Amino acid sequence: MDLLENFEALPIEVQNLINSFGDDFTYDNCNLLLTKLKPLGYSFEYGLDATPYNLVKVLCKNDFDDIVTDGDESAHQWSQLCSGHAEQMEKTEYHIQTHGSGICGIKGCDVESEHYIDF
Ligand SMILES: [Zn+2]
Repeated sequence: MDLLENFEALPIEVQNLINSFGDDFTYDNCNLLLTKLKPLGYSFEYGLDATPYNLVKVLCKNDFDDIVTDGDESAHQWSQLCSGHAEQMEKTEYHIQTHGSGICGIKGCDVESEHYIDF
């Protein structure tokens, strides 16, 4: 879901930041806006015309309430993701695999998961 299409639902600091850039986007200020949105947990893409689109909330490990740590020496950590949240995690450094099962590990999400994520 492109959050730019649901602008009023964004946190006010995100709205204010985006509004402070006005309508006149260039590659340079798209990059600057990306840099400033990152600590707020948001990211977007922009096209050849330097128009931002596909604004998404970038999820991180803190957004999970169900992380499994394997009991063996590897202490490998993983969780499950529903398809919507897997899409949101695609921009992160984590590795997402298909064929997950169980309930999505994101806080407050109780959708059946279809993906695994490795931490
Ligand atoms: Zn989910």
